[in-house]
Amino acid sequence: MSNLLQAIRGMSDILPADTVRWRQLEKDIIGVLSAYGYDEIRMPIVEASSVFHRSIGDTTDIVQKEMYSFDDRNGDSLTLRPEGTAGCVRAVLQHRLLHQLPQRLWYMGPMFRHERPQRGRQRQFHQIGVEVFGAEGPDIDAELILMTARMWQALGLRNLRLEVNSLGTAAARANYRAVLSDYFRAHEEDLDADSQSRLTRNPLRILDSKNPEMAALIAAAPSLSDHLDTESREHFDALLEILSDSGIDAVVNPRLVRGLDYYSRTVFEWITTELGAQGTVCAGGRYDGLVELMGGKPVTGVGFAMGLERLLELRSAQGVEAAPPAPECYLLATSDSLNRHVIVLGETLRQQFPDWSIVSHIGGGSLKSRLKKADRSGAALALIVGEDEYANQSATVKSLRNDTAQVTCSLTELNATLERLLD
Ligand code: ATP
Ligand code: MG
Repeated sequence: MSNLLQAIRGMSDILPADTVRWRQLEKDIIGVLSAYGYDEIRMPIVEASSVFHRSIGDTTDIVQKEMYSFDDRNGDSLTLRPEGTAGCVRAVLQHRLLHQLPQRLWYMGPMFRHERPQRGRQRQFHQIGVEVFGAEGPDIDAELILMTARMWQALGLRNLRLEVNSLGTAAARANYRAVLSDYFRAHEEDLDADSQSRLTRNPLRILDSKNPEMAALIAAAPSLSDHLDTESREHFDALLEILSDSGIDAVVNPRLVRGLDYYSRTVFEWITTELGAQGTVCAGGRYDGLVELMGGKPVTGVGFAMGLERLLELRSAQGVEAAPPAPECYLLATSDSLNRHVIVLGETLRQQFPDWSIVSHIGGGSLKSRLKKADRSGAALALIVGEDEYANQSATVKSLRNDTAQVTCSLTELNATLERLLD
């Protein structure tokens, strides 16, 4: 065993028993995205490192310590994407999609961060992300939040708490940052190591600390809401009104900041208490300055990303997953000499029932072992062809869920018999 190759720590295989749940989750979420008129965009997984340095910000956790960066054979520095927004902005600028606004986009796929693997934190994880360009008002912030609420409903998820905050404009934030910096500097000896290093890099991020020993100090810190500019305040109040009109409970959390530098004004998170320490399943906000920062015209942006591993874990914790679909039919000959006939029969059935899953027996064996495999497949029906059936142009259909139901019928009656026994 010891010399077997292993997947990289923090990067998981998703095995057949789980891919069904993944696809179901993706389908449910994409269904809601389509219902709101969002279009898919697919970006490469690897980008020039500068795409992330320029956008995410050099003082952030991601850029400082989490990126998988490497020099390729030409000596160019490349990075496995740690998030989707930067590459999406790069793509919409490169392909001039911002000539037509607003743009409502979504993407899906793996992200890579060199974090300490633990529950809710992998080094390769998966997100579905959404970005909207060229919509300035609070109505689009609200649309994103309402759309996520609808996703939880579609997924059957309950008890998610919505926290919202406004970070104000870049200027207001710089001002607050200075105030906050003074406050934490005055309490420097009470800061944990992480927060001490954030003090010079990005004091706002201290507010995001998950260390309970920091909670009291953070609770007493000056509040960003006291330093908001008027326009941001109005934008935020309007958002809160739309949410309340729509029956969405939002908790204003003045300590909510996001890990990435590019956010301004609205930020939000959906949080559960059912997954332990890493309870944020979806996080997002407005990034009005990012497009310009990355070389475009000043076009506003707002978006969110949700962690699919965490949503899947929550779905199974809340017991809302449907049973994986089982095949309708397991097809077997009683001996391999009849395989040629059964293969043709299988193709006829697949033509007739394109939505069914029909599994053909493979690998020989006695009739008993063939029937055992049929049972194990979870199929509802076994379709059996032996010498007699072959000679009489017939087939035997056996219910695998109900022992007594077994019928031998002519091939012309087969479709009707299958449909009847499946009911
Ligand atoms: P945190 O404060 O937890 O590190 P973050 O600010 O790094 O969060 P985002 O970049 O906003 O998180 O990512 C959005 C979502 O993606 C998270 O809410 C989470 O659901 C998921 N996510 C982020 N990092 C990981 C990871 N390492 N493993 C699994 N899921 C993750
Ligand atoms: Mg992080």
